[in-house]
Amino acid sequence: MIATNISPRSSHLSYDWNDLADRVLSGHVLTKEEGLSILNASDDELLALLDAAYRVRRQYFGNQVQLYMLKNAKSGLCPEDCGYCSQNVNSEAPIPRYSLLNEAKLMDGAKQAFENKARTYCIVTSGRGPTNGEVERVGQIVKKIKSEYGLHICCCLGLLSPDQAQTLADAGVDRINHNLNTSREYYEKICTTHTFEDRLETLNVVRKAGMELCSGVIAGMGEKYEDLVEVALQLRGLKVESLPVNFLNSIEGTQLERVHELNPRFCLKVLCLFRFANPSTEIRVAGGREVNLRSMQAMSMYPGNSLFVSDYLTTKGQAPSDDFAMIEDLGFEVVRRGFENDVDAPGATTHQPAAATAALPVMSCGGGSCCGS
Ligand code: SF4
Repeated sequence: MIATNISPRSSHLSYDWNDLADRVLSGHVLTKEEGLSILNASDDELLALLDAAYRVRRQYFGNQVQLYMLKNAKSGLCPEDCGYCSQNVNSEAPIPRYSLLNEAKLMDGAKQAFENKARTYCIVTSGRGPTNGEVERVGQIVKKIKSEYGLHICCCLGLLSPDQAQTLADAGVDRINHNLNTSREYYEKICTTHTFEDRLETLNVVRKAGMELCSGVIAGMGEKYEDLVEVALQLRGLKVESLPVNFLNSIEGTQLERVHELNPRFCLKVLCLFRFANPSTEIRVAGGREVNLRSMQAMSMYPGNSLFVSDYLTTKGQAPSDDFAMIEDLGFEVVRRGFENDVDAPGATTHQPAAATAALPVMSCGGGSCCGS
């Protein structure tokens, strides 16, 4: 048994998960040992673990769910070799390949995000990083989206220079997605064309430019439990505002096409790990949820508090109507523009595009990495 500070609670629990929730809610920083204990918990303890993680989630987010909608604004044509990504230079996956979409298509995506009750519209481009021209174009379109729909905007554009980050911040982009994906030690196993340090540097320039950080992981790429715990704690240290937890959706034609390590119970334990490690952070049950959580998707909403609706970058998600039904069945509610008093019951369509919401921040996501493709 792994040594921890958590005391045994009863004969069927290896640890007192509620005691851990109490301590985390009192400011305790999850230790590596505690993180490993969560991942090593037996399936018999899953409900107790979820119950404790839900207590932490409820403290900060109640029963509210934030929705995100992705737009693959530039697809394929990437020189990088991220092994999980269908858009990588070595991928043989039959994906669409196109350069940056025009304004009309990106505006149409914003309209769909609005109509699907998404709080955040994520503009994602493939590639190592954007050109200055692409950054300028995205910035101009973001201004227009904000004035018409008031959506929160997250951009995921790959590695950014300080000047590029500042241009996006000045345009009103609220948040940048740039996932760490895995631990520093394991990173070179999934990508050789850029480094973990490159990714950290982009997170630094984004923060210096004054934007929020969205950064998360992809579980199930052959990493050890220690790697998941390490990256969970590193993301806490970075104080990321939003943390997508992706589950590898092995895509034929990619380097990881034969990696199938996950089961729904373990995925739920991973989400509990990230909730205990990052108690007040928005945790998104992200790419790969449908294929990996399967019939247990609804349970992911006890540790997690946000979802992507509709499709991912190069793979299909379930229909938004199924997500709304799931949220309603749980007794949870969709929040559109922030936590405070701004809730739509699933199925409601009371919000209109309006200048009244135009002061809200915008964010965009870049690179297939943000969504597990
Ligand atoms: S994750 Fe991004 S950088 Fe990596 S191969 Fe995919 S599109 Fe390229």
